[in-house]
Amino acid sequence: MKYFIKVFGCQMNQSDAERIATFLEKYKIKPAASIDAADFVIFVTCGVRQSAEDRVYGQINNIKKKSPEKKAILTGCLAHRKDVQRRLKDKVDLYFPISDFQTFENWLIENYLEIGNWKLEIPAQKKYSQQCNSYLSIDPKHTNAFQAFVPVMTGCNNFCAYCVVPYARGREYSRPAEDILKEVKDLIGKGYKEIMLLGQNVNSYKSPKTNFPKLLHLIEKIPGNFWLTFLTSHPKDMSDELIGTIVKSKKICEYISLPAQSGDNEILLKMNRKYSVEHYKSLIKKIRAAYKKYQPDIFPSISTDIIVGFPSETKKQFENSAKLLREMKFDMAYIAQYSPRPETAAWRLKDSVSKKEKARREKVLTDILSKTALENNKKYVGKIVEVLVDKRITSSPQKYIAHTRTQKKVIFLYNKKITVGSFAKVKITKAKAFGLEGEIS
Ligand code: SAH
Ligand code: SF4
Repeated sequence: MKYFIKVFGCQMNQSDAERIATFLEKYKIKPAASIDAADFVIFVTCGVRQSAEDRVYGQINNIKKKSPEKKAILTGCLAHRKDVQRRLKDKVDLYFPISDFQTFENWLIENYLEIGNWKLEIPAQKKYSQQCNSYLSIDPKHTNAFQAFVPVMTGCNNFCAYCVVPYARGREYSRPAEDILKEVKDLIGKGYKEIMLLGQNVNSYKSPKTNFPKLLHLIEKIPGNFWLTFLTSHPKDMSDELIGTIVKSKKICEYISLPAQSGDNEILLKMNRKYSVEHYKSLIKKIRAAYKKYQPDIFPSISTDIIVGFPSETKKQFENSAKLLREMKFDMAYIAQYSPRPETAAWRLKDSVSKKEKARREKVLTDILSKTALENNKKYVGKIVEVLVDKRITSSPQKYIAHTRTQKKVIFLYNKKITVGSFAKVKITKAKAFGLEGEIS
């Protein structure tokens, strides 16, 4: 019996898929090399934008057309949606919310207890409670051997007007700090070099005795040479304590993902973001000033998310987002055209900005970003920076892809062989908007 997992969307979904893989391993169900070779396919879906949703429909339809006997299982953001279930009714064999492994387990037992000569081996294990996201205590089967995602919290209590996450993932749930520490210690013991803490609002993390800065302190104290990164931070939880912790640490990487979503106060209010543009800008300035004070030689990298064409966004209001990007000189920005999502508060508002105008606004922001990112990257030229080697891309000459602590892609040449997954010091020779080039001489 073999399965294939198809992951859509964010790193959190990737991390969930890694837990599903361990879960299936306990049943001695093996991963297939391709969808064709699998008996069943699990779709870890994303519902953040319509385009992500449409990709799921497309793939399920294709698979069922080609091999109607192949079973399809759907989890992730779309699993609970009644309209999705109606739309895919004959094509999907099981829907289960990611927090409900019990339903998945029951389905496996019902369907695969005995098929021909193959018999499901039921492991002795605890029950997976639906409510408390206990599936997070399953050890994940990491897909990468040196960079690992570790979810620390999931869900969201903020109900931004456009966003499905609170409906798809439920309310905020933070994992016990001991579980997180154990997982990270195991990873460092296995030689992992980069630990990426994940959460929809990672900095809202709160367990009985630990908030997010304290959690970072505890992880930092684990002996070993590793990088510590986290995403995504909500501006409302970017406290002075957290900024102080980040800028004083050697292990915590100088990469901050802090979505603004809009540069206009009226739109921010309609989005229910609960902060003003002035507050957001003051946070960025505070982070940069604190780095300057404690680690003057490094260039912190700041990334944001912006939605263009939120209902009723005028050209003038959009211009304020453009102004924010120009002023804050981001290293990265994930720019999305607004996509109406069922269940959300904004679903009832008129999607008033045309597709063409949304595309225009996206392009304006992308052009600004290309300029600010290039300006920032030019500061690296001539410097020697530490990178984590991701892949060798050619052997003659030996060319590698790596990334910096600031999540910048670096392509570099080295006339010797270097182990993928190790740290290296590279001299940067060229800056591009979305990457760097360098060499080890
Ligand atoms: N928790 C994070 C974001 C999580 S969702 C935060 O508070 O910012 C990831 C990104 O998807 C968001 O930052 C947003 O830019 C985008 N997004 C979410 N809903 C969207 C929608 N309906 N249309 C377009 N983009 C959306
Ligand atoms: Fe979505 Fe807002 Fe929660 Fe982020 S904070 S996950 S955008 S509802």
